[in-house]
Order: sequence, then structure tokens, then C-alpha cells
Amino acid sequence: MNAAMDVTRRSFIRWVISAGAVMACPAPMAFAALSDKKRGSEGKIPPGRLQSETNTVCHDVRDGLNLPLPAPSMKKDVVIVGGGPSGLGAADELKNEDFLLIEKEEHLGGNAYAESWKGVPYSTGAAWDDTAGEPSFKALVKRWNLNWKEIPGNDAAHFGGVWIRNFWNGYADNPAIDKLPYSNSVKKSFRDFLKGIEGIDIDKNLNALDLKPFSDYFKGRAPELKAYWDGFGKSNWGAPTEMSSSYLGIQAARDWFRVPRYTWAGGIGIGSKEVYEQLPEKAKKSILTGAAAYSVRKKGKKVLVSFFHGKKPVTVEAKSVVMCVPKFITRFLVQDLPEEQARAMGAMRYAPYLVYNLCFSRVVTNRGFDNWVPGAKNFTDFIPADWVTYADGGNLKRPQVVTVYAPLNQDQRESILTDAGALERAKAAVEELVALSPEWLPHLEEVRIYRRGHPMPMSIPGYFTKLQPTARRDFPPIYFGCSDAKGEVSDFFFASLNGIAAAKKAAKHI
Ligand SMILES: Cc1cc2nc3c(=O)[nH]c(=O)nc-3n(C[C@H](O)[C@H](O)[C@H](O)COP(=O)(O)OP(=O)(O)OC[C@H]3O[C@@H](n4cnc5c(N)ncnc54)[C@H](O)[C@@H]3O)c2cc1C
Repeated sequence: MNAAMDVTRRSFIRWVISAGAVMACPAPMAFAALSDKKRGSEGKIPPGRLQSETNTVCHDVRDGLNLPLPAPSMKKDVVIVGGGPSGLGAADELKNEDFLLIEKEEHLGGNAYAESWKGVPYSTGAAWDDTAGEPSFKALVKRWNLNWKEIPGNDAAHFGGVWIRNFWNGYADNPAIDKLPYSNSVKKSFRDFLKGIEGIDIDKNLNALDLKPFSDYFKGRAPELKAYWDGFGKSNWGAPTEMSSSYLGIQAARDWFRVPRYTWAGGIGIGSKEVYEQLPEKAKKSILTGAAAYSVRKKGKKVLVSFFHGKKPVTVEAKSVVMCVPKFITRFLVQDLPEEQARAMGAMRYAPYLVYNLCFSRVVTNRGFDNWVPGAKNFTDFIPADWVTYADGGNLKRPQVVTVYAPLNQDQRESILTDAGALERAKAAVEELVALSPEWLPHLEEVRIYRRGHPMPMSIPGYFTKLQPTARRDFPPIYFGCSDAKGEVSDFFFASLNGIAAAKKAAKHI
């Protein structure tokens, strides 16, 4: 290691582990230690096992406090649990009704949430989207008058020490493939892969493709090609090619880059903000942040939802409930779910994820929107946060934030539950990045670390045709939103649509 690049010894770089960014909520996980029978009972909930350590409720659980189930102190027509894009979609659908949205963090947006540094907005999760293939997405853009911009150009990629701009566009005749610093047979392998998937009718072959690992398409092909898609899959849907559904992989490799992509400077989190800001004042007042649900249970025709608001346990009685939290949490929150449904929710897999925002005193990179480094050990890709505004360069003296994506394997989850573990990984990623671009280091002022416990549902084989349909079954008057209920990948619009659909069902009980 060149001492000049040793970021761990650069004491003037600020390392910040963002508070409240951990998406795992151990409060419901307390139920994991309990039998289903016990979870279904009223009264005191015994202490359970701790999965993480982010907020007061979670600490209380860890410290063995019994969680009380007080008698209802308020009545609402609908309770929405979770204030990410899905919960916000549900709130928009119910904006003229008597609802209460409870969100455990102090802010809304879930994994689609933006922050800023020196006035530069950046993403702490979701980055971009497209609408071309989905009329329902377009309808949402119109419904909310979303003020986003088309992303100029294609992504850049780093192979064998060389950066290639506009590297992937989904077409076999892309001239960028010729820039690969490899033999003609490797270049041919990239082109043959694209030719091979060109004619596949994914909708007609949905069942077969969903059960087939995407890695099957890389057999006998150049390892550099597979490395690119292993990284791409991990970053975008949490899984390398072996664990990815071909139904999704083929769409990503062939179709995603043939249509315009969109975002805001600061990523998709700005979209959550725009959706929230359009809600009428009355609906905004029906949203409670810092409120972590820990029990959702049917009682006669009603549903009781218990949550901590600060340290205070509260129970609300509702005619209907919309669950907009990931299924791995829902499974422990909603009591007495049918066995098969609870099992399907439990079988869904989520990728532990770290997102680092590197804050620079000046512009250090502007090769492309998303920048891929196949084979990198400590991250997969990075995005200049304001690329959509400054793709042409702009004033290079302005401050720049670079969002670095570091999806992990499931067995690495424990390692990020402590601050020290997350910090160690962030430092390793920054070391690896500045080894690629040493000129970045003198301008690096701050590194903000966002620990996404286990947020991104992985589109594993069988996900679309088996797991999702069972997990999202209606459990009237409780209905299931969240991005993992339906959709090809964890996505802002699927999340919003799922929240809206569940809210429509809930509204029938009013
Ligand atoms: C690193 C990363 C990159 C991504 N990139 C993209 C992208 O480029 N484009 C894209 O479209 N999507 C992307 N996504 C996915 C996108 O962020 C999600 O699809 C979207 O945020 C899902 O919205 P949701 O409301 O279903 O769930 P979430 O965003 O997970 O929101 C759930 C909410 O529920 C709250 N909650 C959890 N437990 C409780 C509880 N017990 N009580 C009360 N509230 C609770 C959480 O705090 C959270 O606010 C990315 C995600 C990650 C993690």
C-alpha cells in the first residue's frame, strides 16, 4: 500500500455513520424468538433476541423490556405502517380519508431518501428509474407531476485499468465493446451474449426463465462478462448471477438501457419528497414519524396496531391496515398469518447493503452516471450525485458528492451491525477507490456511511412466480404494499403502485 493513499491514516477526513439510516427494525425481530402461538396472544410480549441497535425501541427490546399492548387510545379508518415510497403512495391514495401513517424513522422516504452536503443533494439509496416499459409508471409521473430529468449517456465501466464511457447500451453492435483492453475473443463473447438473448420472449417464457439462474447464460463466456453482471446484479437487486432470476437478468442486460432513464440531482429520494410535499396539509398531519410499530393483530372485524411513539406505547384501532414495510418485518409484526404466507415472507431474501457518500471539495469524476468496476472487492459502482445536472462537466470547482454502492452477501450482514464493522468496510472501499484514482484523495473531506441493514429484496429464482404471489395475499382487512409485494425489482414506482393498490383495498372497509 502506498502510504500516501492510506485513507485510514488521513485523520482530516471525517467519517460519519449516519444515525437512523439502518433499515432493520429489531423491534419486530423480537418476535422472531417467540413461537407463533405466543406471538398471537394479547398481553405482555416477552423480551426477544436483538438483531440490530438503532433506536430506543430497539434498545428496549435488547435490554429485555417487556413490550406492552395497551388498550386502544385512538380510532382511525386506516393505519398505514411504513413511510417509504409505498407508504407515501398509500397516503396519497387515502389523502381525503381518516388515516394514520406510522414511520419508525424521524424522516420519510425509506430506502428512497436524500440528504445533502454543502448544498449538494445526494442519495442514501435509490438512484434512478425508467418509465418507458410501464404505462403505470408514466401515470404516476403524471399524477405527481414529478420534476425529474433524463439521465444523459450510458454507464461507464472499468476493465483492466481502462475506463470506458457509455459501456453498456443493450446492443451487440455497441462500439464501446471494441474499447475493452482484451483479446478479440473476449469482445466476441460480450457480443455473442447480447446476440443470444436478443430474441428471447421473456413474457411468454416467464415461468421457465424465473426458475433459471441468470448464470446459465454466462457458461462458456468470458469471465469479464460474468464479473460485470455479477456486480450489476448485486448492486441493483442484491444478487450475483447464480442467485438471480433470468427473467430479470435478461431484461436488465437487454432492455434497461435501450430506454431513457430518469432521476433527480440527489437521486430518487427527491421523488419521495415531491410526493410528500403534494399531500394536503390535513394528510401531512396524519403522518407520525419516530413511531415504530411492533404488533398488528386482528380483533373481531377491527385491527389493533401497537407502536412506540418515543418511549410511549400506543395502540390504535383501525378498520383496515396497509403494511408498507418489507415482508421480513411484516412477518413478525402481523400476528396469526396463515402458515404458508408467513413461510413465503420468511423465504424472501434481502441483501445487506452499505451506501457511502464521499464528499469532495471539488469535482473529481464525470465519466458517466453509474460507474462500474467489475471484480472490485469492496463496492460495485459509484454515481456522481449531480450527474443529471452536470453531465457536461460544469464548474469543476464546485463541491461534489459521489455515492458509492456496496452490496454485501447475506453472511456478511452481522459484520455491519456494529459501527466499527461498517466503518472498517467503508475505509476498505475508499482505499480501493483511491487506488484506482489517487487524484481524488486530496479533495476528500467527509465520508458519510449509510447502513442499510437488509433492505433490498433479492430477485432470486422463483421470486416472481412463487414467493411474491403467496407473500402478498390479502389478509383482510390487512393488505400488503411495499416494493417486495409485486414487481420485477425493488423500485420506487413498484413500491408506490403496491402501496396505492393495497390502500384501494383498505378503503373498501371504510
Ligand atoms: C442501496 C439501494 C439502491 C437502490 N436503488 C434504486 C434505484 O436506483 N431505483 C429504484 O427505483 N429503487 C432503488 N432502490 C429500491 C427503492 O429504494 C425501494 O424499492 C423503495 O424504497 C421501496 O419502498 P418501500 O416503501 O416499499 O420500502 P422502504 O423504502 O423499505 O420503506 C419502508 C419504511 O418502513 C419503515 N419501517 C420499517 N419497520 C417499521 C416499523 N416497525 N414501524 C414503522 N415503520 C417501519 C422504514 O423505516 C421505511 O421508512 C434501491 C434500494 C437500495 C437499498
